[in-house]
Amino acid sequence: MENSITACDIEALGSAARKALAYLQTVGSRPVAPSTSAVRNLAQFDEPLPEAPTDTFCVIDLLDRIGSPGTVATAGGRFFGFVNGAALPVSVAATWIASSWDQNAALRVMSPTAAALEDVALGWVRDRLGLPPESGGAVVTGATMANFTGLAAARHALLERSGWDVENDGMFGAPRLTVVVGEEAHASLLKALGLLGLGRRRVIRVPVDEQGRMRADRMPALDDRTIVCIQAGNVNSGAFDPAAEICRRAREAGAWVHVDGAFGLWAAASPKYRHLTAGFDLADSWAADGHKWPNVGYDCGIAIVRNAAAMRAAMAISAAYFTPGELREPSHYTPEMSRRARGVELWASLRSLGRQGLAELIERTCRHARRFAEGLRAAGHEILNEVVINQVLVSFGEPAVTRAIIAKVQSEGTCWCGGTEWHGRPAMRISVSSWATTEEDVEMSLSAIRRIAEESRR
Ligand SMILES: *Cc1c(COP(=O)(O)O)cnc(C)c1O
Repeated sequence: MENSITACDIEALGSAARKALAYLQTVGSRPVAPSTSAVRNLAQFDEPLPEAPTDTFCVIDLLDRIGSPGTVATAGGRFFGFVNGAALPVSVAATWIASSWDQNAALRVMSPTAAALEDVALGWVRDRLGLPPESGGAVVTGATMANFTGLAAARHALLERSGWDVENDGMFGAPRLTVVVGEEAHASLLKALGLLGLGRRRVIRVPVDEQGRMRADRMPALDDRTIVCIQAGNVNSGAFDPAAEICRRAREAGAWVHVDGAFGLWAAASPKYRHLTAGFDLADSWAADGHKWPNVGYDCGIAIVRNAAAMRAAMAISAAYFTPGELREPSHYTPEMSRRARGVELWASLRSLGRQGLAELIERTCRHARRFAEGLRAAGHEILNEVVINQVLVSFGEPAVTRAIIAKVQSEGTCWCGGTEWHGRPAMRISVSSWATTEEDVEMSLSAIRRIAEESRR
């Protein structure tokens, strides 16, 4: 039995690279949503697991032939759904190398390179987001797990103050913690609270203003057993909670502030938009996504916690004591143990963009968003939010009309925009988060949306 890589395998790897390149070269000119026949063809994957082995080349051919046409063209420039970036070419290339390395990034001894690149990338992220350099950090799967990680550190720190060891004794019989969230908190933050035994529903919800910002004047009384969750970048409007005021009050009371800054916190990386993030640096923990605005490939989330010891106490597999000067062991700060070296793509993307490139990406996508708003308003459609960053909410009038237009835009294929609810009304959400979006993409998409809206209204 031959157990080293064969000439056939090498040939298959080369062919995979060529297929991937062909995909990337054509993804911008195909309909954004896959055709119904391409989706129907995915049924060909549904076969009994073959008895005999299949060679690498055949498996990769099958994957590309049936799989590629069934993908959504999020890697192109005209996908504006959810808040999804597209992987920068350097991120894709780094993935190819990192997959070949196949490192387990749990411990430094398993991969000095993975640990070193994570350390450096986390340092750059703290710097660009304006967060304390001594904070603990972790590269996780996304903002959901970054929220989970930050909130686990909060849970640890607040219960430790009452002499309660939550990692060992759990939440049964623990002193009560109060959790405060905005009425517009992202659903994934509530999920993280649920996973931590803090409860999705057992929260105090603070009313928001017309842009979805928490109202500081409606905050409940805070104490040192309260976790306040604020948001940098409302998933619909892009709005920022009044962090300076909320953090000031929380500090006075000894409460912990956690920031869900999945995409919005990256505004701090642009001199033009940095003012929107004023005061968020006063919080205690932060969640951000690499795979949204910075356009790192999936999956890449980042958790940062001011009190690195609390983060470690919440995440380390055993209560190993921290020795000063000790190098950071990745898995002491993450929910996972074995994990892929997702810091590699984060490092590569930031290294390639540089400070200027990152700022330019943020500013360019915001400019595209403003152009969408202006072009749709000029056609008589209603823009529901103040377009402060890269998010635009559009109404086409009656709820049923708006819903029908969103569905037609998605099936027509020039671009893809999702639907959402804003103040109880259905709305089209346009999120410009991709490095690949050009002015031409914006104009093409604008004309398609305007034409479809015109036809639907007639
Ligand atoms: C996307 C998003 C999340 C969830 O992030 P994932 O990376 O999908 O886990 C949380 N909060 C906000 C504000 C988001 O935009």
